Amino acid sequence: MISTKIHITGIVQGVGFRPFVYKQAIQQGLTGWVCNTSAGVDIEVNGEPGEITNFINNLQSDAPTLARIDSFEYHQIPVYPHGSFEILHSKEVSNSFQPISPDICICEDCLRELFDPKNRRYRYPFINCTNCGPRLTIIEKIPYDRPYTTMKDFEMCPDCKSEYTDPADRRFHAQPIACPVCGPHVWLESTEIKGGTRNKLLIKDDDAISTVQNMLLKGKIIAIKGLGGFHLACDATNPKAVSELRKRKLRIDKPFALMMAGIASVEANCIIHDTERELLESRERPIVILARKENSSIAIDISPRQNTLGIMLPYTPLHYLLLSPLSKNGFIKQNEPRQIPPLVMTSGNISEEPIAIDNYEARERLSGLADAFLMHDRPIRTRCDDSVIRTFRGTTFPIRRSRGYAPFPVYLKSVSPQILAVGAELKNAFCLIRDQYAFLSHHIGDMENVETYDSFVDSITHYESLFRIQPTAIAYDLHPNYLASRYAIDRAKSEGLRSFGIQHHHAHISACMVENSFPPNRPVIGVAFDGTGYGEDGAIWGGEFLLADYQTYKRVCHLTYIPLPGGDTAIRKPARIALAYLWSSKIEWDPEFLPVAALCAEERSIIKSQLEFRINTPFSSSMGRLFDAVASITGVQQKVNYEAQAAIEFEALVDHNENGEYNWIMEPSGNHNGAQYQINPAPLIIEVLNDMHNNISTSIISARFHNSIARMVCKVCNTLRSDNGINDVVLSGGVWQNMTLLQRTHNLLLSDNFRVYIHHQVPTNDGGLALGQAIIAINRMAKM
Ligand SMILES: [Zn+2]
Ligand SMILES: [Zn+2]
Repeated sequence: MISTKIHITGIVQGVGFRPFVYKQAIQQGLTGWVCNTSAGVDIEVNGEPGEITNFINNLQSDAPTLARIDSFEYHQIPVYPHGSFEILHSKEVSNSFQPISPDICICEDCLRELFDPKNRRYRYPFINCTNCGPRLTIIEKIPYDRPYTTMKDFEMCPDCKSEYTDPADRRFHAQPIACPVCGPHVWLESTEIKGGTRNKLLIKDDDAISTVQNMLLKGKIIAIKGLGGFHLACDATNPKAVSELRKRKLRIDKPFALMMAGIASVEANCIIHDTERELLESRERPIVILARKENSSIAIDISPRQNTLGIMLPYTPLHYLLLSPLSKNGFIKQNEPRQIPPLVMTSGNISEEPIAIDNYEARERLSGLADAFLMHDRPIRTRCDDSVIRTFRGTTFPIRRSRGYAPFPVYLKSVSPQILAVGAELKNAFCLIRDQYAFLSHHIGDMENVETYDSFVDSITHYESLFRIQPTAIAYDLHPNYLASRYAIDRAKSEGLRSFGIQHHHAHISACMVENSFPPNRPVIGVAFDGTGYGEDGAIWGGEFLLADYQTYKRVCHLTYIPLPGGDTAIRKPARIALAYLWSSKIEWDPEFLPVAALCAEERSIIKSQLEFRINTPFSSSMGRLFDAVASITGVQQKVNYEAQAAIEFEALVDHNENGEYNWIMEPSGNHNGAQYQINPAPLIIEVLNDMHNNISTSIISARFHNSIARMVCKVCNTLRSDNGINDVVLSGGVWQNMTLLQRTHNLLLSDNFRVYIHHQVPTNDGGLALGQAIIAINRMAKM
């Protein structure tokens, strides 16, 4: 007989790891104990050497679904016999911490029980076990234990308690364990106000759900409290309901996400490949962007002028109940079960406010938007939006990394000091680093209102306490007006921390390098294309070629500067940008040109004097703005309602059989910030105007434009390779969400034998920026 001690770290708590260890030990006839500590899981076993070896192998190969083992250490100790195998009480280890599991969709076992009439949790919307259910959204503090979650006020009934305390049970120490007797409930609340008070508690439980289903079938809009916040739901096949929702939500044409009952329904509406199917069915259950079928029954107004739909499958038991057929025994008597159509499931907010999470807050903010509320009484601690993912050549390409992914860390190659990186202004997510973990937060949102800013500050405090991180430095974007940057500078000053201002595009490239485990001290050619990023010369950058490593960068090439008349106003009006491009390319503003015709004489004359006298016209080298200009010249959009709208709609028109290209000039840079080269697109603008004059279709022009940009990237990379001997190309920045551009560029670079790196773990847009900021700060600290 021998005794062995084992120490395991990673996501090993709240995921059924101890019962799993217990079962394995009993199976091998071992005695000893297992114990959660704040640093992971400790195990001591004694038995025959062969059985201990089996035990160790099984622990590593058969770990529970949600577990993630980061380190597994064991060593022999002097024999200390035990009478049995036991699960001991948790131990606190000072200054240690635990990664926390993200919220995970309902598991197969729970789903079976949900629809099993003989089960005591039959049709219970909060069924969960150690393999599934809420985590991040309900945790208030660590250790992860029921009294420290939003389930603390629900006292377990004897049945739940016995499952919770039985090591052989699937619900052993499942902190959110609940049943209809002791757990949370749903109810339907109308928004009618009678005699000054709102008509509350109309209908409860299952009747509430079937009533909601009936209301949805009749075209009503319902606010539904979910896992990480409220959704607004309506029938996605009912154009009237969809347009009513747009009107109430003040969302003119930005696409709505959908939830469909199952894969069959997705296949009826979209073209899906294996990777996309896997993603849809994965336990993270993100919204997946899919190509829409022409004969789809989804209302056109769901994603106007786009050829994609964002779809997710149900992920909570409540969603499964809502999307299951209305049975004949349901609230309204019917002969046949009625199928529930695909539902719009858009975040419960007006325009760009953060998603509502609290019942009172929802009643306040969503009353004018919803016809009724499907409420529940399990509080949400942390707001968490649905994640959005695309696929690229069989891999994931994240657009928004939130529910199901956060706070799962990005793993770093080496141990790092504790630091905070605050991210950008739009699509904010921050990043906290300790040891070898980079905890990129859930999606915080656009920092345009005080609610989002408050949620940003609160979430940083919450993450710092959950992961026991005390930053020694803070990294932020150089943009002087970003609220996140101001927070960072103020906090660094008041707490005496070091702070690092990080250039936006350098952060993009570094984020992509680190998630691809790119080695340090080896520079890459970084192609950072986006809409807006503050440059070191005060201009707005966004069409950048950098030579970069984790510490420094050199801007070697960029799009030629154009003046942006009116700064931010120009971003909302692509016509203004088109005029600036015409002006910069010395082309007269012919009234037949669509952007010229789109603006009144007065606005044009203001723009003209702004350009001539350089009044409020910041310089920009943004690739996003070049897309806007061409989309405007071709008449796709003269005014946009959401970020990158013109470019997205322009891409949707691409004729994939067209191989033509336009010209552009690579020339010495006009001594902007030391760059060697600049790309002057004036010939391209002229050729697009000629094509318009010759009535060439927008689809052909769009294809030629995309081909030209892909070729431009490849040619510039070739020049930079011969100048610098670098063969690694990193593509990052929001413009790379353009799949047509990404595919074509990727093809050209690969056929020229470049090694190409793109994002797979964090978004290519500003949602991934904080990771890059953090890595650069860490590398700069190491050199100091
Ligand atoms: Zn489960
Ligand atoms: Zn119970």
